[in-house]
Amino acid sequence: MINRLAVSALPPDVPAFLRTTAARNEIAYLGPEPDRWRSSAEPELNAVQAPEHFIDLELADTFAPLPARRLDFEARVFAAGQRPEKIGLQPWQATEVWERLKVAFREYRRLAAAGPGKEADTLAAEQAVVFYAGWLGHYVGDGSQPLHTTIQYNGWIGPNPHGFTTSHQIHWQFEGPFVAANLRPEQVQARMTPLHPVEGEIFPAYLAYLRQSSTYVEEVYRLEKAGGFVGQGTAESRDFTAARLAAGASMLRDMIYAAWVTSAQPVPNPFGK
Ligand SMILES: [Zn+2]
Repeated sequence: MINRLAVSALPPDVPAFLRTTAARNEIAYLGPEPDRWRSSAEPELNAVQAPEHFIDLELADTFAPLPARRLDFEARVFAAGQRPEKIGLQPWQATEVWERLKVAFREYRRLAAAGPGKEADTLAAEQAVVFYAGWLGHYVGDGSQPLHTTIQYNGWIGPNPHGFTTSHQIHWQFEGPFVAANLRPEQVQARMTPLHPVEGEIFPAYLAYLRQSSTYVEEVYRLEKAGGFVGQGTAESRDFTAARLAAGASMLRDMIYAAWVTSAQPVPNPFGK
């Protein structure tokens, strides 16, 4: 839903191929793609990319400030005798996939700008753009779910003064059956923010998005305690969930648009080190 709403809300100055039904369908299809990589039939793939779906900010921030480059973060974690897969790699993965998308847009521009008399064949680059946009959407969608940003990802641990659930069901109950049964695209679309292109460096902007999402961790638990994710839930829980989905769709739209816009910038120092 997030992928489809995001691509449907792109402004008219993105290339027309992104607004075709075929592109929308493919980008929507790719939303769950990284979860298809979590099968026990592909154990190596599962192991390496399962941590890219989440980040436990409480743990990550013991290494603050977080570096924008994945290997710099991993080196710090290993040096502390810890493992990155126990902390999560969400913002690095989202950053890198976004950069892949930007590269594909840049190639599209290069092909589309083929000189007079040359027939520009942009189809191959268009297909790359569609793939990267759909792939990116998975992480942005995961990031809109507050429980992907916390050690409290599936049942409260540690001191529990509010008596939040400790059972390992809240995560999927909220994002899975409750959303499927109660949230329609129109409700989410109505809550999307106006276009707000991502400015500056992508990593801090994306990290800020995850931190904003993480401010709602306790709210998810509070709503669960009030029966908000059983059956039809409550008006409050449906509103909250629509707003979270809308935050994801808005961010994905803004990131795709930013990749398009910034792909026009010349590559600095193209032959340099
Ligand atoms: Zn995921």
